[in-house]
Order: sequence, then C-alpha cells, then structure tokens
Amino acid sequence: MVGGPLRRRVLIIAAQLMLLLAGISLMLAVALSVMMTMRERLPTTPVPVHLAESVHPSNESSIAQTDSSVAYREGLPAHSDASATPLLRNTPTPHAPPQRVGIVSGHAGYDPGAVCPDGTTEAEVNMAIAKIVVELLTQQGYHVDLLEEFDARLRGYRADALVSIHADSCEVPGASGFKVARITDSAIPEAEDRLVECLYREYEAVTGLRRHPNSVTDNMTNYHAFREIDPYTPGAIIETGFLLEDYAYIVRRPRMVARGIVNGIVCFLQQSP
Ligand SMILES: [Zn+2]
Repeated sequence: MVGGPLRRRVLIIAAQLMLLLAGISLMLAVALSVMMTMRERLPTTPVPVHLAESVHPSNESSIAQTDSSVAYREGLPAHSDASATPLLRNTPTPHAPPQRVGIVSGHAGYDPGAVCPDGTTEAEVNMAIAKIVVELLTQQGYHVDLLEEFDARLRGYRADALVSIHADSCEVPGASGFKVARITDSAIPEAEDRLVECLYREYEAVTGLRRHPNSVTDNMTNYHAFREIDPYTPGAIIETGFLLEDYAYIVRRPRMVARGIVNGIVCFLQQSP
C-alpha cells in the first residue's frame, strides 16, 4: 500500500473538485436559462406596429384587397384609442411608422355618377385621377388604400386622412371651378378645417382652377363616407371641377389634377402633430 493518509487526501481533494465543478455548471445553467427567457420577452412590446405594417406589403393600394385596413386597425390603433396613442409616441423608434391615407374613387363600384354626352362618366374620370393620387402618395412613402364609393373597409376606417374624389355635372354651361368640404358636425373640426384649407390652397395653386365654394351641397357636407369612417379620421371631399367647362383640366390632365390633391394631402399631413 502506498501511504494510506496521502491517498485519502487525494480522494478528498478530488471529491471537492467534483463538487466545485458541479456547482459551477449549475450556476451556468441557471444564468443561461435566465438569458434565454429575457431574449424571448424583449421583442414582444415594440414589434406589433411594424409587424402589422408589413403583413400586406404588396397589395396595400389594391382596390380588390379587403383586409389590410383590418390588420392596420388591429395592429396600429389610431387617434380615438387613448391608451395606445401615448405608447406609440413614447416608443423610441428610429423611423416613425408611415402615415396612412384613404382615397375614395367617387362612384367606383356603384354607379357612373355624372355622364357627359360623349359618354365620359364621372366614375372613370375620378378613377383615373384617384389611381395617380395613390401612385404619387405611395412614391412619397405613404400607405394608401384605394377605396370604392361604398367600400366595406370604410366602416370604422382609421387613417391619418381620407379624401374622396368626385367631379361635378356635365350639364351646367358656364360653371367652372372646384370645391372642398368636410362633415358639418365634425368631431375634429380644427384638423378637418386644415385638411380642407390645404386642399383648397394646393389644388388651386397647381391646377389654376378657381374656387367654386357657393355650390357646396348637402351631399358633400353630409357625405355618407364621413358617417362610416372613424370620427377621428380627418376626412374631406373634393369636387375637382365641372365635367363640361373644366373638361380640359379634369379629363385631359388627370396627372396635374392628382398632383393638386396630393400636395393638399401632404400639406395637411406635414402639419399634423
Ligand atoms: Zn360624384
């Protein structure tokens, strides 16, 4: 036997070392599991906004698509949801989420609207303009929904602005000009007045058409879509001109007309808090 006490000491040291190793690996395991649970929790708070924005990236402006605004409503509560707004404002994101705009192409999917003797319909004139408005706003980074006159998505629709595009009768010789209106009993009169004023100013500057405010009708100030959308979505309706006297503008130069509307919307959105 080679020295009994020495062997005992070696055995004791070995046992102590093994205990130490077991202790260290236990601590490592605990630290690892804590780190993993922390990493799982981290992204869940700030992400839903971006997730909701990117769910339907390809068909944002498609008129046939029906559910992107639903995703938006669920993912990005807007103005009226008091609990969500401060959360969005205080979240330190490097890029603010893109602003959303609804464009109603007047009479689309419903009826022709005003009809000219040559067969030109208001609905097709509106659509030609609306499509360019959507194109230009999308190019500027806005999320745009192209909506039909009685689009199902209008119900409770939430966005930073909604503008409905119409044109006036083809049967009023001598009548020329455009006009803009918002709902009479607005829940957000300051914002909607600003939207109306921006549209008046920019549309006038781009097209050179004159204002024709005296012909604002009850159909405009009580426009059905204003009653359908979320009352905190700033809404306006524009009659781009008269199909007879302003044919050279609204039928022949839809891109210029669209630019007037886009500039009005951007003017409003850039002033928005
Ligand atoms: Zn109309």
